[in-house]
Amino acid sequence: MAFARLLLALFVLLAALPGLAASPPARQEPTPEPLTVYFFDVGQGDAALIVSPTGKTVLIDGGPPEADEALVPRLRQLVQGPLDLIILTHPHLDHLGGLARIIQAVGARRFMDPDFDHPSESYRKLLDVVGQKVGQVMTPTPNPVAPETLLTIGLGEGVTLTLLWPRTPRDTFLKDTRSDANANSIIAKLTYGKTAFLFTGDAEPETEAYLLTRPIDFTSTVLKVAHHGGRYSSTAPFLAAVKPQAAVISCGTGNDYGHPTGEVLQRLGAVGARIFRTDLQGEVLAVSNGATVTLTPKKGRSPPTVVPGQVTGPVATGPMPSSASRTTGGKVVPASGTLPERTAPPTRASGTRYVSLEGSEVFHREDCRVLERAKTKERTVYTDRASAVRERRPAKDCDP
Ligand SMILES: [Zn+2]
Ligand SMILES: [Zn+2]
Repeated sequence: MAFARLLLALFVLLAALPGLAASPPARQEPTPEPLTVYFFDVGQGDAALIVSPTGKTVLIDGGPPEADEALVPRLRQLVQGPLDLIILTHPHLDHLGGLARIIQAVGARRFMDPDFDHPSESYRKLLDVVGQKVGQVMTPTPNPVAPETLLTIGLGEGVTLTLLWPRTPRDTFLKDTRSDANANSIIAKLTYGKTAFLFTGDAEPETEAYLLTRPIDFTSTVLKVAHHGGRYSSTAPFLAAVKPQAAVISCGTGNDYGHPTGEVLQRLGAVGARIFRTDLQGEVLAVSNGATVTLTPKKGRSPPTVVPGQVTGPVATGPMPSSASRTTGGKVVPASGTLPERTAPPTRASGTRYVSLEGSEVFHREDCRVLERAKTKERTVYTDRASAVRERRPAKDCDP
């Protein structure tokens, strides 16, 4: 079923691409099913959709608020049923702006973000929508049963999404950077056969330097360039470790930030990466067959570019040492007892209090995950359910 869906999506896509439409669908020998990544043109921001060979869908970021008018219908074309997972790399508006509407219009089964507090109205509203509409909330937190391994998400047919960063409480969040929200972006490596994609959010140079001290093979065929091509990220040592064959820069035409910067274009060129830009070329389609990746920009007449996969080993090249002992003066911070996937609502107990976040129309049980994720937000506490019901609706996530 999922397979049929993917074929249909591919058919529509192939038919829409000039030059490719004439290719006969005949297949003499069984070809591996493709892994497809769409780097959407969302203006100044990020949004990319992964469609695995078995039809699993992962959306990484949802562009700025103004992007949802184009993004929602595009996702409806490509995805049938709810998204399997939405990853918000970090709670900045150019990455989360379209997500609330996407969740409402397309749906999502799971939501993951780096799980640090961020005082913004749009993020709070998004968490409210997540609380009401999304079944599971995940974090890249290491599994306490095996804290020295990286968290991985299988997408079928050997396609794996590995979460490289952040890894709290095993490793503490990076602090005192140009932007700590950027520096603690979720970094994920998607692998399929010899090909890999590295999604770096808005990683800062500190993120790159720290990750390089970890036993990780960063080699990736396609790099989603950090921070829209901002000059501080994509350092030469990091690019030397990633060895990207192709680099995708997601940014807006004539944006106010000067993205991408000449410095980053030059550093990418120095490692031999073919550069794709959503501001100039529109949406960029990347299709992996496990051996090569074919990149096709939507705008312009340039033919598809085929780059070879070069990944030979596992993502983790050894057990992840904990940085906790170093950063907390010898005191090892114990891993929390929660599993990365939280599904079941907490069991009901007597004496429960109910809490509503400022500006929200719903109330939650006091132990609801949504509240834990919004520790510093203003809140109203009700000591009994009747008073809460008088003023607000029960939230769908914890069903108080
Ligand atoms: Zn950004
Ligand atoms: Zn950012």
